[in-house]
Amino acid sequence: MPARILFVHAHPDDEASKGAATAARYVDEGHRVVLVSCTDGAAGEVLNPRFDTGLLDAVPLARVRADELAASVRAIGFTATHRLGFADSGWHEDPADVPDGTFARTPLDVAGAALAAVVRAERPHVVVTYPEDGGYPHPDHIMTHLVTMRGLALAADPAHTGDAAAPTAPWRVAKVYAGSAFPRERILALHEAQLAVGIESTHAEWLATRREDEPPPDARVRCDAWFARRDAALRAHVSQVDPEGDWFDVPLAAEIAAYPWEPYQLLASEVVTRLPEEDLLAGLDPDAWDAAVGQPGTG
Ligand SMILES: [Zn+2]
Repeated sequence: MPARILFVHAHPDDEASKGAATAARYVDEGHRVVLVSCTDGAAGEVLNPRFDTGLLDAVPLARVRADELAASVRAIGFTATHRLGFADSGWHEDPADVPDGTFARTPLDVAGAALAAVVRAERPHVVVTYPEDGGYPHPDHIMTHLVTMRGLALAADPAHTGDAAAPTAPWRVAKVYAGSAFPRERILALHEAQLAVGIESTHAEWLATRREDEPPPDARVRCDAWFARRDAALRAHVSQVDPEGDWFDVPLAAEIAAYPWEPYQLLASEVVTRLPEEDLLAGLDPDAWDAAVGQPGTG
């Protein structure tokens, strides 16, 4: 029985840089794997020095990034994509500088309701979002965590009717994860992998900032066979990803030998499972979940 897995991401390109190989693996294994992209990415900067910025005289960045997202989605193979269309808040060190009208300034119930509508339509068994601190402190990434948690609560609440003209049935999710793309163990493995193949470590400084007693991930999903798809998705973000840059500074074979997984934290589970997991679907029987939670014959 195929499962339904929903990934919630902040900007176009996050679906490529976080969890892409996991998503591609579950697609290939026959599951329904759905992407929610919360913002338009319009406040991003061009991060690839090889990108021809002259293009932006004719085409707005939001349009460029929408096209890049579509190409990345094709590389990963997501079954469906929902773009919530909130305005990118932009990077701000001081949260007080976030402009009004942007995603991170949207009331949680408003953004949460938009996500709840998708959750009720897609009825995922598993949802993957960001950790509470966003994974890194971009206001939209912190907001993505908050909106996911509020959206899941609204989706499950029978008192939340959604669109009054077309009320939707509640849906409860079995498992919620935070992608924790770079736990210390992965940074250490990639650092050692670079040294082992005789190249300078680009992870040493990063490693030094991490606590040695950092808890290990709750789940490690083996997905090295899909790293090439992840890299193709990254390269699809031509305005954001330098094909000669940081994302590719560990040779693929060395990365696969050192750390062939993508790591996750389990934020909530309504099924019994034993940590650490090797599969986001561990402990889950999608049929039984649908029978217990779902409304047979709908959706
Ligand atoms: Zn982002």
